[in-house]
Amino acid sequence: MNDVIKLRPKDFKSEVKPIWCPGCGHYSVLNALTKAFAALGIDKDNTVLVSGIGCSSRLPAYVDSYGFHGVHGRGLAIAQGLKVARPDLTVLALGGDGDGFSIGGNHFIHACRRNVNMTYIAMDNEVYGMTKGQASPTTASDWDHSKLTPHGPGVRPFKPAALALAAGAPWIARGYSGNPNQMSRILAEAIEFPGFSFVHVLSQCITFCPEQTDWKAVVHERLEPAVSDADEAARLFLHEDGFSTGLLYARQQPCYSGTTPAAGETDLCGGFRV
Ligand code: SF4
Ligand code: MG
Repeated sequence: MNDVIKLRPKDFKSEVKPIWCPGCGHYSVLNALTKAFAALGIDKDNTVLVSGIGCSSRLPAYVDSYGFHGVHGRGLAIAQGLKVARPDLTVLALGGDGDGFSIGGNHFIHACRRNVNMTYIAMDNEVYGMTKGQASPTTASDWDHSKLTPHGPGVRPFKPAALALAAGAPWIARGYSGNPNQMSRILAEAIEFPGFSFVHVLSQCITFCPEQTDWKAVVHERLEPAVSDADEAARLFLHEDGFSTGLLYARQQPCYSGTTPAAGETDLCGGFRV
């Protein structure tokens, strides 16, 4: 009989030491993700992390799985192509708010509507960290800490969860770098969901947005069950403060697999039919 070796979170960490700033929220995402992998007993030889460019996009290098450090904003395109070509793999795309919602914004909305069976983790610190703190699509309009926008960007920020819902994403959750245990549970559920799961993570940039340490006073766990009605979810995402965490919206929908289903079948996503 073969011995089943249960891997621990640290077994999913690579030998590459993270070079994020001390106190960066992305450490917490890395820890939560490796914990989720261990809890799920993920096969690291059949798992691929795909990223774009930016501080958070360094994460695949720190995980002992396959990885692809792509070009700016294109992680989702690469990840979807990989999953369609190799549906047997566990595929995750990850990156930051600048990478994912600016240059990668078009890939994001189309990934939401396409619904390939994979997970997207957006580590949102409302700033371009790697390039020294410029405003991103989620920066508050009056954030005046950047020399490039000394009076604030003056543009209203995206609401990523609302955008994902409007674009057709079937599963939307939010985590917080200050609560890695909850985030780990969210990431495990996201990986198991049969479809495109979007995890919006509030992940503080301690270097360019030190005021984000105040998030811990306003982040709160949403205790109600996930909303499954799209109208109700629209009201939730348009009017919430952006700091409610947990699984927010879940509704199974047919996935895109790149193949044409047989007549009467839309079983493209690992088991469910409509
Ligand atoms: Fe993290 Fe910000 Fe440092 Fe980048 S610049 S590693 S996001 S704290
Ligand atoms: Mg960012």
